[in-house]
Amino acid sequence: GIAVENVSKHYGSFHAVDSVSLEFKTGSLVALLGPSGSGKSTLMRMIAGLETPSSGEIWIVGENATHKRVQERNIGFVFQHYALFKHLTVRQNIAFALELRKAPKNRIKVRVGELLDLVQLSGLGDRYPSQLSGGQRQRVALARALAVQPQILLLDEPFGALDAKVRKDLRMWLRRLHEDVHVTTVFVTHDQEEAMEVADEIVVMNKGRVEQVGTPAEIYDHPATPFVMSFIGPVN
Ligand code: ATP
Ligand code: MG
Repeated sequence: GIAVENVSKHYGSFHAVDSVSLEFKTGSLVALLGPSGSGKSTLMRMIAGLETPSSGEIWIVGENATHKRVQERNIGFVFQHYALFKHLTVRQNIAFALELRKAPKNRIKVRVGELLDLVQLSGLGDRYPSQLSGGQRQRVALARALAVQPQILLLDEPFGALDAKVRKDLRMWLRRLHEDVHVTTVFVTHDQEEAMEVADEIVVMNKGRVEQVGTPAEIYDHPATPFVMSFIGPVN
């Protein structure tokens, strides 16, 4: 799993993430939930290794990863600004990281086929991203992240730009994927309903701090702070 120990990120005097401690158990499916600007992406970027904490430590699968480079962390991620490569086919996009690692050609072919099945896109392997729907593109991005068999999957608003119907399908699909692959997964959302429906555990963030951690039921039934109450509470 992942352990975040007293991690902060300061930009000048501004605390984007402020003394956050969290533990994500191996195989868990966790939602990071909070309003815009609450520090969700900053925390995810630090776990991925794209950003260094100002203080604190990050442990990944029992090893101190605080100063490890992205490539050394065995993490797959889908962040909004890491779009698909437009000039590569679906197949080539998924194979990209495997080719970087100089995996044998036939091994790559088999693995890409398995991943296409997993994300239910077999048959679309030779298309280019521009020939896919938004939801299909998100699934290619997930397959690409899973290609190197990461122990951890980080998804920052993976369904952000999609319409309500597609989001609903993808939620269920993410749950099923998680049941198949059992990779420790953390996904960011500012949609309460999405967090409730998909996650086993929810972390509620506000202003760079953790307000509450619990199962969807715990958080819904026993909000720990006035913020959680107003953010999660029954909509009237
Ligand atoms: P959203 O839901 O809008 O994506 P978020 O919870 O992901 O929000 P972050 O992107 O983590 O929020 O940003 C947290 C705070 O840190 C914001 O107030 C943001 O303006 C600030 N911030 C993020 N990156 C920087 C930076 N490089 N320099 C200065 N401030 C930053
Ligand atoms: Mg964000």
